[in-house]
Amino acid sequence: MAPPHPANPPPPLEGKLRRIAMMTSGGDAPGMNAAIRAVVRMALEKGCEAYCIYEGYEGLVQGGSFIRKFDWEQVRGWLSEGGTLIGTARCMAFYERPGRLTAAKNMVLNGIDALIICGGDGSLTGADKFRAEWPSLIKELVDTKQLTAEQIEPFKHLNIVGLVGSIDNDMSGTDATIGCFSALGRICELVDYIEATASSHSRAFVIEVMGRHCGWLALMAGVATGADFVFIPEKPRAENWREEMCSIHRKIGKRKTIVIVAEGAADQDGNKISPEMIKDLLADKDGLALDTRITTLGHVQRGGSACAYDRQLATLQGVEAVNAVLDATPETPTPFIAINENKITRKPLVQAVLDTKEVSKAIEARDFDRAMKLRDTEFSDMYNSYMTTTATQLNQSMKLPSRRHMRIAIIHVGAPAGGVNAATRAAVAYCFTRGHTPIAIHNGFAGLARHHDDQPVGAVREFDWLEVDGWASKGGSEIGMNRETPGESGMEHIASLFAKYKFDGLFIIGGFEAFQSLSQLRQAQEKYSSLCIPMTLLPATISNNVPGTEYSIGSDTCLNELVRYCDTIKQSASASRRRVFVIETQGGRSGYVATLAGLAVGAVAVYTPEEGISIAMLAADIAHLKKAFQQDSGQSRAGRLILINEKASKVYNAKLIADMIREEAHERFESRDSIPGHVQQGGTPSPMDRTRAVRLAIKCIEHLENYEDRSDATILKDPQTCTVIGIKGASVVFSPMKEVEEKETDWPNRRPKDEFWVELKHIVDILSGRPEVPRPESSLKGWKAKDRKRGLI
Ligand code: ADP
Repeated sequence: MAPPHPANPPPPLEGKLRRIAMMTSGGDAPGMNAAIRAVVRMALEKGCEAYCIYEGYEGLVQGGSFIRKFDWEQVRGWLSEGGTLIGTARCMAFYERPGRLTAAKNMVLNGIDALIICGGDGSLTGADKFRAEWPSLIKELVDTKQLTAEQIEPFKHLNIVGLVGSIDNDMSGTDATIGCFSALGRICELVDYIEATASSHSRAFVIEVMGRHCGWLALMAGVATGADFVFIPEKPRAENWREEMCSIHRKIGKRKTIVIVAEGAADQDGNKISPEMIKDLLADKDGLALDTRITTLGHVQRGGSACAYDRQLATLQGVEAVNAVLDATPETPTPFIAINENKITRKPLVQAVLDTKEVSKAIEARDFDRAMKLRDTEFSDMYNSYMTTTATQLNQSMKLPSRRHMRIAIIHVGAPAGGVNAATRAAVAYCFTRGHTPIAIHNGFAGLARHHDDQPVGAVREFDWLEVDGWASKGGSEIGMNRETPGESGMEHIASLFAKYKFDGLFIIGGFEAFQSLSQLRQAQEKYSSLCIPMTLLPATISNNVPGTEYSIGSDTCLNELVRYCDTIKQSASASRRRVFVIETQGGRSGYVATLAGLAVGAVAVYTPEEGISIAMLAADIAHLKKAFQQDSGQSRAGRLILINEKASKVYNAKLIADMIREEAHERFESRDSIPGHVQQGGTPSPMDRTRAVRLAIKCIEHLENYEDRSDATILKDPQTCTVIGIKGASVVFSPMKEVEEKETDWPNRRPKDEFWVELKHIVDILSGRPEVPRPESSLKGWKAKDRKRGLI
């Protein structure tokens, strides 16, 4: 039985502090628990009180035990749980004013003056209505004598912040919603499995995915898996889609056909396109007569633990939501927390809700151009990428005049990273579509330099589309990778080979060595005319340490692998005794991977090369662990994790730290070290790495195409002819190599000078409850404890 409502609301907290309640509403989505954990802990860290409302708006309307105060320990271990642990429900009562009136009363009676709601556009529409009505609701509560004027006095202004939790990614104004990348991951995993069987039996598969008004999942799955055909609500295929679909299969002579259909797919006249219709067409005996099967993915798309990205996104947005609550004044419009490329932002909720509704209206009115415009730029970019990569050899209208055709060399430099093959496939597809000749350089600069013409397989050869078409989801590097730089191979020799093969442009994919290679080539341009061609680098490395970008392809795959590894290890502890695991991550001299993985798994401490490790710091962390285990009465038996980057210290490594902890624990708890090693490169690349690889690779070749005039003078004069593509804040940019090399690169440490994620380290510490520990003397500026008070926190 629910306890009776308190008769009087508790007095407001001091000053600007608030009682902040967290709620999940609408459809559940992976990552919601990470958001709850972040909101609860950040609220407590700031001195506020934290509450959770169970079962969405239903709980707010019912009140009583549906509204519960939370403490720090209650959300322990929530990062790795799927769904939402505080429940969600559809609530009919909240659609009506009387329901919202009761909800308002329950808020006041519990003294709650801020509400953070994580849900889809429906839930946020409800939230917006609630806030707009708030003054009249509390007035009515007084008028009807349910509350007194005195009781409502501190609640005149309602603070609401929205977090978008939805697997569909259907909210305007944000590039990603909490849960969408986990769902996409699940879809791609299943499509990859289906592809194997389709190819074995030479079959066609029609796969239906979620998305009534939004084709994001279908489109992204199409890009990530290299599907042959995609149907989305926002952009129906051309009227002759039937002929087009049949011609793709016939012309290219593939063994398998994969078609992905969003639930809400329709043709240009608004008639639904069902998987059955597509199947009938593909299986038609007088047509392709393909053995065709339908698979509807259904609810598996929602399930499971959140991927690394959703955990980070939910955590950082949860932190930002609490900050937004504390910054709010009666004049601030209700915000929701968005992400644009790599930047977390606050945006007006009303506008986003309106824009989202506009998309549905535009689809209904069959104004598809408007529907596409209302989605974010990444969506239309992805759509164009998809069309480019599937129109290969079919769409003659995209070809450039022959005088503009280029011989574009593609080379992989460094160590394998997820998405390298997807990027290559996309670049090759784009080249074919435009009439360029894409040329593979096998095994990096070493392969090029040491190749002899009498070898059976050349180090330099033209790509063949049928071979490349199957690379969308492949890990590793299909053309071979090598760390050697052209300087090491011999620049004169390399320049002579560039002349011999008549390259008109160079596309490099790789990590820090690739960056170094491009820098050397650029500097040698003055000396060698054959090197005076446009060149661009797509950063690809698990370490994410390439200057000029905040994101390298492959880093997301690595984080997913690490998170999976850490979850498994943490689980293993629950079966035995209480344990601390010290896990060594890769990352070179950049603590990015360790820190971001720490954020996604809730590490009790993260050791990075930027900060270093000192004896005082270790002692403080060990003391904290001892205290934590002492106080832990065993509610959660899962282990605790410490992450240490491989180069965090020359002396203290994972094993030594684990031994020190064991020695100090005096058998009250245990410790173990663990090194995942090359597992971190990942098997199958993550959908984020694959889709971003496609989008960025196409942009790179488009960029090279701009340099029709490739005279030596132009190349030497224009800094944009030699660039690195990157995501910086909210934009995708081509940065001139010269500038990045000279201003942004910490050469001795092989990483960018200003690492954008520095502040995230403090958030990991705060959310895991790490106390203030002494920082080593060698810590970089920006890593000292006093900086905890900056920026995001
Ligand atoms: P989602 O948030 O995933 O889009 P729904 O559209 O089902 O899911 O919304 C979840 C809940 O939010 C609904 O059950 C209802 O309680 C509330 N809600 C949705 N739309 C509105 C609205 N227009 N007015 C008031 N409440 C709403």
